[in-house]
Amino acid sequence: MNKLLIVGTVAFDSIETPFGKAEKILGGSAPYIALSASKLGVPTSIISVVGGDFTPSYLEMLHEHQIETAGIQIVKEGKTFFWKGKYHTDLNNRDTLVTDLNTLSDFQPIVSETDKNAPFLMLGNLHPTIQMQVIEQLPKRPKLIVLDTMNYWMEHSWDELMAVLKKVDVVTINDSEARQLSGEYSLVKSAQKIQEMGVKYVVIKKGEHGALLFHKNEVFFAPALPLEEVFDPTGAGDTFAGGFTGYLARTEDISFENMKRALIFGSNLASFCVEKFGSERLQTVTEKELEERLFQFKQLTQFDIELEKS
Ligand code: AMP
Repeated sequence: MNKLLIVGTVAFDSIETPFGKAEKILGGSAPYIALSASKLGVPTSIISVVGGDFTPSYLEMLHEHQIETAGIQIVKEGKTFFWKGKYHTDLNNRDTLVTDLNTLSDFQPIVSETDKNAPFLMLGNLHPTIQMQVIEQLPKRPKLIVLDTMNYWMEHSWDELMAVLKKVDVVTINDSEARQLSGEYSLVKSAQKIQEMGVKYVVIKKGEHGALLFHKNEVFFAPALPLEEVFDPTGAGDTFAGGFTGYLARTEDISFENMKRALIFGSNLASFCVEKFGSERLQTVTEKELEERLFQFKQLTQFDIELEKS
């Protein structure tokens, strides 16, 4: 089993959805990615930073999930990255009300000797310069580098983002961000343009409408499971990315065919994430529940049509 090294934010999130509010709960791209991969039995290690105000029990919880947290620097006099978001009634759209970078603004990532040879690297959503600094510290290029990003970094650090995109194999991004990044409305054209930026595979996340995987002229679609209730979509994108990359690390196979399966594993994990606030549901989901839902995914997409041979 291959180790997955993760760099990303570890945050306090305040979230408001039509169903309620949560104040200063555990958030950030890294915990969602790591929890998701850990549910597939993949050993992970997080590189990040928090302030002296961070809740120690959150680190203990990550540890209990076999997630290495020694790479999370604690800046005693600093404050933890803080994000506040509010969802619209349809839950597909949200407004970011606050992004306080705090300790993230002068964070220098340090990759430990034990993490330096991790064969899989997930650059979770955070400053592209920090993503680049992690790549630069690795003595050997990992087997696979996956990058996630968002509109915030396109608006604040475009050049740095362009530079790091050239160094990665896969980018995972949501549909509106893919349009923003490429300047194209069609997602097919967006994916082509993003590949021209230097990325080999493009995964476009479409929330409750599933995800698309593009590589050259090939395309694959994975649905999201139609759920009776979605409580809080925060972290679904990161959970998806963690499940996708985690599955590739678990199977040690980075072929396009295996990426199709990885997309389903990512969607499966994300379908649990949205059932409760923050990472709460992800923390408790069992192997049996994941397996049962995989079966539902299969049922959802299987059909039998006789095709006439021409
Ligand atoms: P997702 O819903 O998958 O897009 O991820 C939500 C998580 O992203 C939240 O837990 C936030 O703490 C985190 N987040 C929000 N804005 C940023 C940002 N600019 N950089 C990194 N992480 C962020």
